[in-house]
Amino acid sequence: MTQTLLRGRLLSFVSEPQSLTDSESYRYETDGGLLMDNGVIVESGPYAEVEAKSAADAVEIDHRPHLIMPGFIDMHLHFPQMQVIASYAANLLEWLNTYTFPEECRFVESAHAQRIATHFYDELIRHGTTTAVAYCSVHKTSADAFFAEAMKRNMRMVGGKVMMDRNAPQGLLDTPQMGYDETREIIAEWHGKGRNHVAITPRFAITSTPQQMEATQALAREFPDLHIQTHLSENHDEIKFTCELYPDAIDYTDIYARYGLLGDKTLFGHCIHLSEREADAMSEASAIAVHCPTSNLFLGSGLFPLKALMRRDKPVRIGVATDIGGGSSYSMLRTMDEAYKIQQLLGERLNPLESYYLMTLGNARSLSLSDRIGTLDKGTDADVVVLNAAATPGMALKMEVVKTLTEELFLLQTMGDDRAIVETYVAGVAAKGAL
Ligand SMILES: [Zn+2]
Repeated sequence: MTQTLLRGRLLSFVSEPQSLTDSESYRYETDGGLLMDNGVIVESGPYAEVEAKSAADAVEIDHRPHLIMPGFIDMHLHFPQMQVIASYAANLLEWLNTYTFPEECRFVESAHAQRIATHFYDELIRHGTTTAVAYCSVHKTSADAFFAEAMKRNMRMVGGKVMMDRNAPQGLLDTPQMGYDETREIIAEWHGKGRNHVAITPRFAITSTPQQMEATQALAREFPDLHIQTHLSENHDEIKFTCELYPDAIDYTDIYARYGLLGDKTLFGHCIHLSEREADAMSEASAIAVHCPTSNLFLGSGLFPLKALMRRDKPVRIGVATDIGGGSSYSMLRTMDEAYKIQQLLGERLNPLESYYLMTLGNARSLSLSDRIGTLDKGTDADVVVLNAAATPGMALKMEVVKTLTEELFLLQTMGDDRAIVETYVAGVAAKGAL
């Protein structure tokens, strides 16, 4: 296969930034080279050194003066909610019942699921996201469409058919046995095929009976390497209703713990209103709280205490995500802009190094996939995003006075969106330019 050599400013993280001046936490090459071959990064470093190691027929693409970073990772979104986005609702439960559940019913039709899957991957690529963790609908057809399209695009994706057997319309219900059987079929058909990862996906405790939670526990025991994804502590009415459904549990988090679902592969969407006990339990289990700022603001769910959870004596592992369609943007840049504002409202500071760490290496670590993605290290997947901080006239004007890398990152996060994504490379291939 022909090698591709990218030239530009390379930026990637090696550890969690401790401050705005923590230059040990990242690698930055002002004239960098990134050599990709057969889907993998084979060399990364100063351009002159990497160029000297490249094959004579390597195709060189000059991205100067743009920034080259690991592709963004979105830790939580709903593939069947592309046409739910921007729905006018008072709160989470009204939004689910009025818009989301009726829309998800349509995914029983393969043709609809396939059509939306095509758009889904187009949007991810357009916004520089190269890996995402998604909920499909309850229908196996939706998971089949999701994974088939991921394979076609050669993207590293995590996803699962949601299991839900109560408190939703008939067209969206499985049964404990059916949810178990279909998830096993999906694992057999798709897990490890291409770059696919199947996640065990009980939607949330409200829509699963105790019998279904037991079936989920059985799956988690049989497939301990798989991710588990669900929702936790998003909205006060949701918390109250959930705890009424599981009166024996100490609190919402304890419901999942009782069914063996609180572990280091479990991704809990939201976690806005955790008690100290719940945060301790999350920390002890190394479970991941996935912050979805545009969704939390859009649905009025609350202000996620990101910095407070990170700095606890018992810190909670964090992911960041769009939560389409409760979320209002496919862009991880827009997402981190809103995350920043939420911390401002809480009297906290989220510095731009932390933001870009979270979107790349931080999310990769929370997925236990940092040996493959979220980095520009030699031997890892060639999933890369190229960013232009002067993408619009307004951004270009501001760039005239930007002096440092962190100022540039902050501008990109504050004003950037898909227009700032010059190119998205998926497994070494320019995917955005091909849309
Ligand atoms: Zn969600």
